Amino acid sequence: MPSVELITTGSELLSGRTVNTHARTLAEKLRPFGLKLVRDTTVTDDLGAITDAVRGALSRVDIVFVSGGLGGTSDDITRDALAQIVGGNLVPHPESLVALEQRYAAMGRPVTDVARRQALILERGEGLLNPAGIAPGMAIPFGEKMIFVLPGPPREFSAVLETGIFPRLGNMGLPVFQALENLLECTGLGETEIAERLEKIGLPTPEIEVGYCAASGQVEVRLIAAPKNAALLEEKTVAVRAVLGAAIYAETRIGLEETVGRLLAAQHKTLAIAESCTGGLIGHRLTSIAGSSAYFLGGVIAYSNDSKVRDLGVPRELIERHGAVSEEVARAMAEGVRARFGTDFGVAVTGIAGPDGGTAAKPVGTVWLAVADAAGTVAKLRCFPTTRDHVKLWSSQQALDLLRRRLQGLSAAPGATPGRPSW
Ligand code: ATP
Ligand code: MG
Repeated sequence: MPSVELITTGSELLSGRTVNTHARTLAEKLRPFGLKLVRDTTVTDDLGAITDAVRGALSRVDIVFVSGGLGGTSDDITRDALAQIVGGNLVPHPESLVALEQRYAAMGRPVTDVARRQALILERGEGLLNPAGIAPGMAIPFGEKMIFVLPGPPREFSAVLETGIFPRLGNMGLPVFQALENLLECTGLGETEIAERLEKIGLPTPEIEVGYCAASGQVEVRLIAAPKNAALLEEKTVAVRAVLGAAIYAETRIGLEETVGRLLAAQHKTLAIAESCTGGLIGHRLTSIAGSSAYFLGGVIAYSNDSKVRDLGVPRELIERHGAVSEEVARAMAEGVRARFGTDFGVAVTGIAGPDGGTAAKPVGTVWLAVADAAGTVAKLRCFPTTRDHVKLWSSQQALDLLRRRLQGLSAAPGATPGRPSW
């Protein structure tokens, strides 16, 4: 698979102010062309740093992408750096200059020399009109190799990629190589546990690459192979399904909220939720899916004890005897919300998001989850000792997964021991 490197320029990317998103955008978009991003180097707005990085990349790969520093200000020096490498002068890109003049005229602003500088390109390259901004991108042949230059703002970066570069990639005579990829979205197992199970069945192999991407409460596993290994890929995917089992919740890139939504819709079942520590996050996630009104009837954010009693009918003695974060209260909340909304399922979450409020028996991150339906109520203890945001997100994952397993007739993932982390 032909390799590609990216050089992202910009002091702001190394100062902690701006998150560098170009590598992700580029890697995703190059995959269908059979091109693989193998290195992303970020450098400050410094002529020497940019030329070093571009020369280094050109010594390793045939296609180099360079982003940022194409504006007209003094820190925009990417063109000068590239001119040092490939030689030749900077000249205006006529189409971009016309677009720039029209844009400035429309805004009633004078076209200054600094403004005009944005439309400059290397005479040895080809200008790529920027449909989302002013500074054009460039395609610069360098011997047998190719340098593509893109503006820094993400919207402009993507726009020039789509309109200026992709049509050229198709005409570059690159070996056409469409990698095959099988996705397995998992929850309830950690990344290392998954890797161990896959190693036991001999993955990865020289033919089947395995990629992992872990987020709060979920891990995406990707099995990647060349088209000629399609049969082996399918065979290995079947083996992976067998070792990961119920942990796999989807085989396309969707979240648990959509998985649960599809299951509820397919089974013509309805849902109501009672949220304490997640503060409405589960409701937010469920309602982010179009069409959720078919199965999601509503919920209660029962954050205080009074609300749990008044709005969900949780007996006050239960809270007094066992505490608000307890199996008994989680069960009563799930049953209460199910009864009040008249739904097939009631889901409840009650936990300690922190950073305060933890005890030895119930440390920060202790969460009780419950799902009630006509057949009864299941409850699970989980413990994720982490930051408040993560506890909330993780709890929402666990609640959706408990429901997912119930809808699929699977048993719940193992619970935690009280007071002990369960990750
Ligand atoms: P401009 O004409 O806006 O100056 P430019 O091509 O010169 O465009 P930069 O000056 O390098 O681009 O970056 C402009 C802005 O784009 C940055 O302040 C930053 O917010 C965003 N940006 C640049 N590079 C990246 C990146 N790799 N990831 C995310 N955002 C980026
Ligand atoms: Mg700039």
